Amino acid sequence: MKLLEYEGKEIFERYQIPMLPRCGVIKIGDCLEKLHIDGPGPWVVKAQVLAGGRGKAGGVKLAKTPAEARDLAGKMLGMKIITHQTQGKALTVEEVLVEEACAIEREIYISAVMDRKAACPAIIASAEGGMSIEELAHSHPEKIIKVAVDAEAGLLDFQARQLAFDLRIPQKNFREFTQLAKQLVKVFIEMDANLVEINPLIISKDGRLLAIDSKIVTDDNALFRHKDLEAKPDHEASEIEKEAKAIGINYIGLDGDIGCMVNGAGLAMATLDTVKMAGGDAANFLDVGGGATVDQITRAFQIILKDSKVKAVLVNIFGGIMKCDNIAAGVVEASKKVKINVPLIVRLEGTNVEEGRKILAKSGLKLEQAGSLWEAAQKAVKAAR
Ligand code: GDP
Ligand code: MN
Repeated sequence: MKLLEYEGKEIFERYQIPMLPRCGVIKIGDCLEKLHIDGPGPWVVKAQVLAGGRGKAGGVKLAKTPAEARDLAGKMLGMKIITHQTQGKALTVEEVLVEEACAIEREIYISAVMDRKAACPAIIASAEGGMSIEELAHSHPEKIIKVAVDAEAGLLDFQARQLAFDLRIPQKNFREFTQLAKQLVKVFIEMDANLVEINPLIISKDGRLLAIDSKIVTDDNALFRHKDLEAKPDHEASEIEKEAKAIGINYIGLDGDIGCMVNGAGLAMATLDTVKMAGGDAANFLDVGGGATVDQITRAFQIILKDSKVKAVLVNIFGGIMKCDNIAAGVVEASKKVKINVPLIVRLEGTNVEEGRKILAKSGLKLEQAGSLWEAAQKAVKAAR
């Protein structure tokens, strides 16, 4: 799950990571007076969307007066943002963060990530922050610092000090930095994160070390350990995905037009690949689970057909624990409850497959059967066209 900047900063606060004071967050429909903007300023108004590069896209604005900050915040709400990280899609700004701003002397990059190759967490850092780290890694790989971290011990003192030297942290901020680096790793471990990034971490003109931005991506598999996160909305999930999750179906929306209903994640992945090989694009990944009941199949059809892009549905189910005749009966039952108004292609394989195929053939349902996955994929692609 990806957290918005302010959600990440709320976590940073619990770990004493130094930041600028936040004046508040407003959502669409909120009263602008909800923002507690006072003091000498200036302030920074920031669009809360799950993408970096907001600065260049008009999602980060400086304000000199409280009135200007409110005005900018109001204008930013509802705005559409496209950055280099949104894959050409526009994100709608539903929340805006206003915080105190400061004059920046230097921008640094620092993050904690999972180094899967080394099977341990790692700190990635660069004395040149602010810009995209991917770009920097490409153009100047020598400027990227990587420190392997022991997950049990955390970042050790000597590692934190070495990092501070390598990043040319000023003497004045040295202790504060080593503390911050260690806390960053602590956030990473304790939040079960895949990524905790501060870009930029800055040295302000008046000599303060401050986290200006936050990006936290947590591991969904560990969500059960974080009741507070579990209760938060998943900003990345579509309405259909949220609905599927609520009824226990593994569904991820994709860009294509062939709805897929498959049992087992591996078979679902193979189905997507095969559809692609046949020249089509899947509209979703959907795993109905091992013991797909009539109820699950009905719900899965409902979920798939909610996506208006879907032009054909491909059912690819392997009868292992569930026998094919039961699955076929399930498909027939489900089709009575859900109006399937697009071509339906069914490929069954496994235990009692012959009986299953007979049930489908005799059902009077408008569907095409396929003997193999390859045949099914080709039929689905043709039907969707
Ligand atoms: P991102 O571009 O979406 O990652 O958003 P950031 O939060 O990293 O902000 C982008 C840039 O805006 C930063 O790299 C800074 O240069 C600038 N910025 C953000 N906050 C402040 C601030 O308080 N003062 C000043 N002067 N610039 C800021
Ligand atoms: Mn940033």
